Amino acid sequence: MKSYDVIIVGAGPSGATAAYYLANAGMKVLILEKYKLPRFKACGGGIFEKVLASLPFDTSSAITGRTTNITFYNNLKDPVHAKLDTPIIMLNRKKFDYLITEAAVRHGAELNDEIRVNNIEINQNNLTVSSNKGSFLTRFLIGADGAHSFIGKRTGIVKRRGIWTSLEAEVQGLKQNLETSFVGFGHLKTGYTWSFAKKDYYSVGIGGIGGKKLTIEFRRWLDFLGCKDNPRIVSHPIPQVVVGEKLQKGNILVVGDAAGLVDPLTGEGIRHAIKSAQIASEVIIENKIDEYSRRILKNISYDFKFSYWISWFFYNFQGFCHQKVIKNNRESLAFSKILSGKSVYQKLLKNIINPLKNTSFR
Ligand SMILES: Cc1cc2nc3c(=O)[nH]c(=O)nc-3n(C[C@H](O)[C@H](O)[C@H](O)COP(=O)(O)OP(=O)(O)OC[C@H]3O[C@@H](n4cnc5c(N)ncnc54)[C@H](O)[C@@H]3O)c2cc1C
Repeated sequence: MKSYDVIIVGAGPSGATAAYYLANAGMKVLILEKYKLPRFKACGGGIFEKVLASLPFDTSSAITGRTTNITFYNNLKDPVHAKLDTPIIMLNRKKFDYLITEAAVRHGAELNDEIRVNNIEINQNNLTVSSNKGSFLTRFLIGADGAHSFIGKRTGIVKRRGIWTSLEAEVQGLKQNLETSFVGFGHLKTGYTWSFAKKDYYSVGIGGIGGKKLTIEFRRWLDFLGCKDNPRIVSHPIPQVVVGEKLQKGNILVVGDAAGLVDPLTGEGIRHAIKSAQIASEVIIENKIDEYSRRILKNISYDFKFSYWISWFFYNFQGFCHQKVIKNNRESLAFSKILSGKSVYQKLLKNIINPLKNTSFR
């Protein structure tokens, strides 16, 4: 049986990034991915330049556009135009994820795609990772296997976790310019719709909690945007973070969506997938794997506590927030600072609460 220092399950941004850093540090790394690469991933693909700059190799060929303005709608009405102080970079996810994987392979990681991991055994000195195409031995195992993480569940690292459902379609021919993205509220009790303009298509979607209403509201949103045809709609889960949970057990840890590291307000996850992979690699290289959960809390998920509160308030008072918060351009700018990594939710919460202190909620 072949033996490795680290096996990584999943070749999304989290798994591929971890593979890059660990292989670059001279470790013997194997990536196992269930789909043939490059693979499709349902995603808006919105990310900030700072995230791309945090990777030590070029991924610019995956960029398909730049959003400098967002138009917010409340129940398809009352558009509010906000100018971002930092553009949102639009990515082709299939290309982006594969560029990271290729960088990892160039630095020595071994890639095995079209292979599904289906068991893990914890031995005295190592781990056995089994799949539909054979078994492998490893010292460390990283679960980078997405929202429904098999590794997380099988090891007991992931317990109960909320899930948002999202529907996404790649649509042609909308009357929306390349610099402007649309975001809609008021469709669901919790969740929102989007239309992100890319060079050759629009990523249109809805994400949240809503059961059947999700499909109905998605169709309303597509009609509103002027989508005439019946696009292929893909459903994909978005995990909800449990702030402070333990994300490691012995020599096994989970990263990215498998660790639930998605912003509770926006569903943004690529940035946190990459950051968590960087932290995972650090703790393995430094031989301090027990530090992993604490470092994730400090560097990523602590601020999600504030995002949760904002999200609770925002989604319970969507009409009010549209009028009083989104229309206040200062907050839109503050919000873009958060997404671009220049500020944190804790600060935004203070910015929102202070002016509301003397405001009536009717
Ligand atoms: C509709 C939608 C829109 C989104 N829009 C945005 C956005 O605009 N901006 C943003 O920042 N985030 C967005 N996100 C979130 C973002 O897509 C995720 O946070 C990100 O993909 C997480 O990366 P990951 O590497 O952890 O997991 P993934 O990208 O999900 O990769 C996991 C990989 O593991 C593989 N895998 C799973 N199980 C196994 C197994 N048993 N064996 C082998 N391989 C396995 C899968 O095939 C997959 O390739 C969106 C999500 C959705 C669903």
